[in-house]
Amino acid sequence: MRQTPDTAETTFKPALRAIPPGLHFVSTPIGAARDITLRALDVLAGADVLVAEDTRTLRHLMEIHGIALGGRLVIAYHDHSGEGALARLLALIGEGKSLAYASEAGTPLISDPGFELARAVAAAGLPMTAAPGPCAAICALTVSGLPSDRFFFAGFPPAAQGARREFLAGVSAVPATLIFYESPKRLPQLLAEMARSLGGGRQAVVCRELTKRFEEVSRGPLDHLAESFAGRAVKGEVVVLVDRAAPEAASEDSIGAALDMALASMSVKDAASFVSQTLGVSRKLVYRIALDRSQG
Ligand code: SAM
Repeated sequence: MRQTPDTAETTFKPALRAIPPGLHFVSTPIGAARDITLRALDVLAGADVLVAEDTRTLRHLMEIHGIALGGRLVIAYHDHSGEGALARLLALIGEGKSLAYASEAGTPLISDPGFELARAVAAAGLPMTAAPGPCAAICALTVSGLPSDRFFFAGFPPAAQGARREFLAGVSAVPATLIFYESPKRLPQLLAEMARSLGGGRQAVVCRELTKRFEEVSRGPLDHLAESFAGRAVKGEVVVLVDRAAPEAASEDSIGAALDMALASMSVKDAASFVSQTLGVSRKLVYRIALDRSQG
């Protein structure tokens, strides 16, 4: 994602402190280049090694803010770069180097690479920090007007229809504002599917091109949004948010779907506790459904 250069920061002077050894995650703008934080610029200016999902995007961002590479090592890395690439980064940190890691845009790990790296650094007991900053999910929640006391980041729904339906059923009854990322191409279809499986009357918000010139926020019940986006060639990047369902909406089907996801990695007892807490329904009921499913 290219940043808008017309918003360049030209007066930045890096702090004189050295960047300590370890991995430093750096959040970068999701549209407006000036959304970079001063600390993120300090880390980019001072780290021994620059690591990025897309090294061209990082170089471009640094250029906009007048930060020189100064002959430093620049390494491309994402979660599928393989064991060798991961081992190389861990070795550099082990040698006492400071590494800055940026994904293409926004906060690393949030539907972006970084998790495998963070897990490996934590397991190795090496130092790790984050220079926090822009994140489309949080920006969207902030302007959505939907309740922010509890929110559930669902990421990108799967593209295949069956998996998508199951995914939506699994999150439908979560008692929190639901946040989804989606490609603009699939947005009209997603809204129609959401209206069918989450309920057409549920309040929802579509945030498009946040922080950019053509930022647009559309609010309304899911069936209205589905209708207004139907057949539209949507451009840019979008986040979809859906208000929580009324408490009684936790049907046996949605409890069952949530349990199926939880049972993939938890014992029956743990899955029942987790789903009962997440959906705000009785543990006894969930445990009974969990037992039926694990035996059937
Ligand atoms: N790591 C990023 C973050 O912190 O938000 C997300 C990266 S993910 C690969 C890209 C998705 O984030 C897009 O498909 C879109 O759903 C959402 N997104 C990113 N920038 C956006 C923007 N400016 N406006 C709306 N959605 C955005």
